Amino acid sequence: MATNKLLLTFAICRLIVTVGLTLRPTELLRLGLDGQLSLDPTDMETASLDFGMMSRAEPLAVFHPTSAEDVVRLVGAAYGSVNGFTVSAKGHGHSINGQAQTSHGVVIEMSRSVKKLAQLSPLVSMEQEEQEQRYVDVWGGELWIDVLRATLEYGLAPKSWTDYLYLSVGGTLSNAGISGQAFNHGPQISNVYELDVVTGKGELMTCSEEQNSELFHAVLGGLGQFGIITRARIPLEPAPQRVRWIRALYSNFTAFTKDQEFLISLHGHPNSQKFDYIEGFVIVDDGLINNWRSSFFSPRNPVKITSFNANGGVLYCLEVTKNYDESSANSIDQEIEALLEKLDFIPTSVFTTDLPYVDFLDRVHKNELKLRSKGLWDVPHPWLNLFVPKSRISDFDKGVFKGILGNKTSGPILIYPMNKDKWDHRSSVVTPDEQMFYLVAFLRSALDTVIGGDESQSLEYLTNQNRQILRFCDDAGIKLKQYLPHYTTQEEWMDHFGDKWAQFYQRKMEFDPRRILATGQRIFKPSFSTKVASW
Ligand code: FAD
Repeated sequence: MATNKLLLTFAICRLIVTVGLTLRPTELLRLGLDGQLSLDPTDMETASLDFGMMSRAEPLAVFHPTSAEDVVRLVGAAYGSVNGFTVSAKGHGHSINGQAQTSHGVVIEMSRSVKKLAQLSPLVSMEQEEQEQRYVDVWGGELWIDVLRATLEYGLAPKSWTDYLYLSVGGTLSNAGISGQAFNHGPQISNVYELDVVTGKGELMTCSEEQNSELFHAVLGGLGQFGIITRARIPLEPAPQRVRWIRALYSNFTAFTKDQEFLISLHGHPNSQKFDYIEGFVIVDDGLINNWRSSFFSPRNPVKITSFNANGGVLYCLEVTKNYDESSANSIDQEIEALLEKLDFIPTSVFTTDLPYVDFLDRVHKNELKLRSKGLWDVPHPWLNLFVPKSRISDFDKGVFKGILGNKTSGPILIYPMNKDKWDHRSSVVTPDEQMFYLVAFLRSALDTVIGGDESQSLEYLTNQNRQILRFCDDAGIKLKQYLPHYTTQEEWMDHFGDKWAQFYQRKMEFDPRRILATGQRIFKPSFSTKVASW
């Protein structure tokens, strides 16, 4: 306890010296923070880096809150102090470009690792008669895997997912949260009933469609700019028991996208007449089709790209699933057959597997463990995620998949379409101006060492290639939007938000007027930036 107090005082002194915090240590102590303000080297190191491993920024201190009130007190102190300091919420730190970092303030570690936060474990509401109206209340730093585990105890589960579940609720809701269910249920930000948010003024506000709706829509997809999500109310559905997981290959891009677009157009049909998840990926490597995202094809039966007459050396893999349980087990085969019959994939290329629902949702984690064991997880990740309008996806294919990439990808490349009307235009996220658009995700890992003179996996090579892809789209007039966007100047951000910029700016002025939150996104400079010149 005495050591804690000493560390806390030291952390506060550091804030005073570095940013001229006007509170005296005793005053900050008197704020009554239950959580721990830490300068522990491990905490500081973790807060300085992220999954991307391409940027480093050491905060002045790390704060482990024990409640929403703790967050209120800390943000309130930052907002109220004469010289100010920045505050960045960090979920699981799985950003790529330092979005959850700050070098001029405090990182709030939102994960529930602190014991006192145990009381904030997911709370499933079972009061509603109708299963469809049930929901779970979760702490903003909760990981989706833990939300899943908690709700499965009641036979329930959220509807919309990300491919990987070791991400925080606050982190994915600050972006969008997408996966193969988005065509049907919309992104995760379209699946939220209510939020508790601590604004940049240190006010705790409950918001929803009906209550404080401006804040609600601002925060969803808001890149952490308007407040810190401390609680989210997520709707649930009865959890399926098992999943039939199917992959089929295409050598013709037009046939591939036509089928994907047809399948997502079935979103309004009864469950028996559509798939539950639709994704796809691009295969340009002249090697095994497996990748770290999901080992699927049996290693004893490796699939070679050359055996499928790939047009221009590129294959496309459709990936779909159908959920089922005991009551629907008898009809699942016919339902799948009826859907597959309408598709135009290479006839001999269908691969099917069957697994429990949880194992499907948690599929990427298995591969994370494999990569970790080989030291290939904690490496730089120059990822690039793009929303490409449907009308230009074929030009993108010719210019990028069959052009710029060459025959090495250094990681999975996902491609799947989504329906724009499943996205709420009142949220902060921006998507292309067409009813259908594609996610194209280059999920690549860089290696420190150049193997056999091949530099195509170096960070420099991959970063240059990302720039080349963006330049190509710009030159070709492909009006894409970045997902998990990364820009460094306000002009670029204004361009990114387009028509939505004025609203985004006005919301910022209303909810975080000193611009102290999530400065790692590099959208706004804090109002006290004369002293703190750079982010
Ligand atoms: P952080 O990196 O910790 O934070 C991200 C941003 O959100 C920061 O600006 C931070 O300040 C802010 N923030 C964090 N918590 C809060 C909060 N409680 N309130 C307000 N703001 C907050 N995305 C998808 O959509 N679909 C996928 O399938 C998918 N798969 C992924 C797989 C891997 C392996 C990785 C590394 C990322 C993946 N992502 C995916 C991207 C991911 O959704 C984002 O990077 C997300 O921000 C990560 O969540 P996090 O908790 O790690 O957030």
